[in-house]
Order: sequence, then C-alpha cells, then structure tokens
Amino acid sequence: MRITIFGTGYVGLVTGACLAETGNHVVCVDVDADRVARLSHGEVPIYEPGLDALVAGNVNAGRLSFTTDAAAGVAHGKLQFIAVGTPSDESGAADLQYVRQVADTIGRHMTEYRLVITKSTVPVGTADEVRATIRAALEARAVSPEFDVASNPEFLKEGAAIEDFMKPDRVVIGVDNERAADHLRALYAPYNRSRDRCMVMDIRSAELTKYAANIMLAAKVSMMNELAQISDRLGADIERVRTAIGADHRIGYHFIYPGCGFGGSCFPKDVRALGSTSRQHGYQPALLDAIEGVNTRQKRVLFERLQAHFGDLAGRTIGIWGLAFKPNTDDMREAPSRTLMEALWAAGASVRAFDPEAMGEARRLYGDRTDLVLCDNALAAAEGVDALVVVTEWHIFRSPDFDELKTLMARPVIVDGRNIYEPEYLRREGFTYYGIGRAAGN
Ligand code: NAD
Repeated sequence: MRITIFGTGYVGLVTGACLAETGNHVVCVDVDADRVARLSHGEVPIYEPGLDALVAGNVNAGRLSFTTDAAAGVAHGKLQFIAVGTPSDESGAADLQYVRQVADTIGRHMTEYRLVITKSTVPVGTADEVRATIRAALEARAVSPEFDVASNPEFLKEGAAIEDFMKPDRVVIGVDNERAADHLRALYAPYNRSRDRCMVMDIRSAELTKYAANIMLAAKVSMMNELAQISDRLGADIERVRTAIGADHRIGYHFIYPGCGFGGSCFPKDVRALGSTSRQHGYQPALLDAIEGVNTRQKRVLFERLQAHFGDLAGRTIGIWGLAFKPNTDDMREAPSRTLMEALWAAGASVRAFDPEAMGEARRLYGDRTDLVLCDNALAAAEGVDALVVVTEWHIFRSPDFDELKTLMARPVIVDGRNIYEPEYLRREGFTYYGIGRAAGN
C-alpha cells in the first residue's frame, strides 16, 4: 500500500518504519527540515532500540523516504496518517494546531480519494474537526474528491516501540463506514497473523480508548505513589506491600512500582487533556484531577528528601543518575529529573548528571547552565557529590561498585527514587539510604 505519515517523532517514525518493513511504500512528511535532512542521510534523531537498523534497511530498500514537501506527501498515499504532536496548551487541553495544519494541507492538495487517519492522541470529536477542516479546504478549491476520516490511536511504549507496533495487544480502528474499515484491516493484516487483533468501533469510542488506557495506567502509578507517601508516615515498607498486592491477579505487577512520579510526553498531558474535555462537557473529573495532583506532589519528593536531610541546599552538589523520563529512551519531556534539577538550582545547589541516552537532550535543554555538569559516565556523576539520586532505573545503575562509589562521593548519601537498591545492604555498606515509601528503614 502507499502510505503517507505526517510527523516523524517517536510515533510517526516508528509507524513509518514498521509499515515499510511489511512491504508498504511509505513517505514521511515533517515540517522540521533539519530532522528530514538527518533522516534522509540515515541519521535517526531519537533513541529507540532497533529503530536505526529498521529505518536504514527500509530506506535502502526504497520503501521509506522523508520529505518536507507536503504536497508530494498528499499525492503519494491513499492512506494519510496524522502523527504530529498534541501537547498541552496553557489550559491543559490538547493543542490541536498541528493536527489542524495537516488536515488543511491534505484538503488543499488532494485530488483523489484519501483515507485520513489520526494516530496522534486527540480529544473525542477531533475526527469531526479534521473532516470539517478538509471539507473547508476542498470547498475553497471548488473540488470534491471523496475522503474518509478514521481514528487509529497508537499504544506503543517508547523503549519497546518496535515490538509493540509489530506485535500489538490490539489495534483500535475507529471508523464510520466499511470502506475505511477495510483499508485499515488490510493494512494491519500482517501484524495479525496469529489472531485478529483489530477492534473496529465508532470513531468517538476509538478516540476515547487511547485516553482511557493511559488514564488507567497513570491512576495505578499515582495510587501506588499515594500509598508510598502513607507508608512513609506509618513506618511500613511499600516494596513489601507492592509484592504482596501484585500477587493478586486482579491487581497484577504492572505499573505498581512506587517512584518519583510519572513523566513523558503522554501520561501527564493525556490526564490533563481528558480532564479538560470532561470539564468542557460539564463534568468535574475528581479522580483525574487527583491523579495529576498526586503526581505533581510526587515529583517534588526527591527534592524534599534532600532538603530534609541537608537543611539548606545552597552550595551543595548533587549527583543524578538518569535524566530520561524512563529507561530505554532519550525523551525528557516532563521528566521527574527536570523537576528535581530545577528545584535544586532554585535552592542554590549544583548538579552533576549522567544518563545513558539522554545526554544530547539534556544539553539541548540545559546546555548553557553553569550549575550543571553533564558527565561521561555514571561514576563521574558521583564524584565529589553530597548525595547521589537515582531518578531513572536504567539497568546499568542497578549494581554499581558501592565501595568505589563511597570513595568517590563527598558524603555517602543515596536517594533512590525508583527503589532499585536493598536498603539494608546499602546501610551495611555505610550509606545513608532513602527510598520511596520505605520508612521502615528511612
Ligand atoms: P513528537 O513531538 O516526537 O513528534 C511530532 C512531529 O510532528 C515533530 O517532528 C514535528 O516537527 C512534526 N510536525 C508538527 N507539525 C507538522 C506538520 N504540520 N506536518 C508534518 N509534521 C509536523 O511527537 P510523538 O511523541 O511522536 O507523539 C505524536 C502523537 O502520538 C501525540 O499525539 C502523542 O500523544 C501520541 N502518542 C505518543 C506516544 C509516545 O510514546 N511518544 C505513544 C502513543 C501516542
């Protein structure tokens, strides 16, 4: 099939490469000329395991190409995917300006049937807006080629995006006619060989499904973080509680890790956006507000722990392990590391930091700061620090040489924002250890 994808971010690029891998001819359009130039030279601008090879293989095979020429993109694909960003606007609602731009572009250039599919996470009702935008652009040209609009939200996880796309738990297809459903069923057939994972439904339900999935997961995390806060005050160990409740199949072990709050480009903005949509429709979403409120508070917990330990943080140096919002990505959007670093800087402390993949992103965001040293490796980030904080649970941070660490650090204080260490072991090794919700030992 001939496919065009607007947006070459985490979702658009993975979608484009994975669809090309099964034999489709894919053109990816982006307004970011630098990004398109880098991709055209085989340079993948984001870190996602396996993506470099997948992109290179399909570019070399002539099935995947990149352009800033939107008209050429509209001319290429019978299927046109919208995979641009939908960040929060100032009110917390999803900012649909990029989605509207693409819809307008398609309407301004299309000359024959197009199926326009929103893959971006968009509020319920956006497909109607996409349809109206395309129709207005066609009317301005006094032409009327047929088109359909569909919703096909994406559920991939950064860090395991290719696997998630190639072997999806489900493919949600929101349509209002059989023609659109048939095209999408055919497109996803190669990913459905063992069993049909397509769930075809009305467009509004498909749009809501994406938010519902993210809100459920975000709720689990915030619930666990709330329990961790309570655990701290009651002298219990939330890790014992976690292992015990996870054994109940109705709860399960996924997404019940206590920590320093969720970040990333999806959960925070999607919780806010669904809350905003709810309010627009006259419903006060008490639980959604609480999920966000608990998370905002939790993202301060590392800073507050340091402050409680040291009192005044002015002049202190804090080491940070992990800057990405989670392991296996370079994405730092709304990452807890940013909340921590910004609070430390405001308090007059300086930071030494290391992340296996997010150093480029950290340089882009904070490269001109004099109170941040970006280090080449984990041990360098611990050199001379008053405390070391684990913010992201990358594998390489799990078993450091604690003897060496202790000699490098000015003070042996570890704040473990992901509960990856054994408190008792670290104490025996001579560290002051703080975890999340582990007051039994704090
Ligand atoms: P991103 O910010 O990484 O990428 C968006 C890209 O769109 C950028 O490269 C930008 O230059 C481009 N763009 C903007 N306007 C454009 C236009 N008019 N034409 C062509 N390109 C344009 O975003 P992302 O993380 O890939 O997310 C995209 C969407 O997918 C969002 O709605 C997000 O909520 C959703 N989503 C993201 C993930 C994830 O893990 N990142 C997972 C599922 C769904």
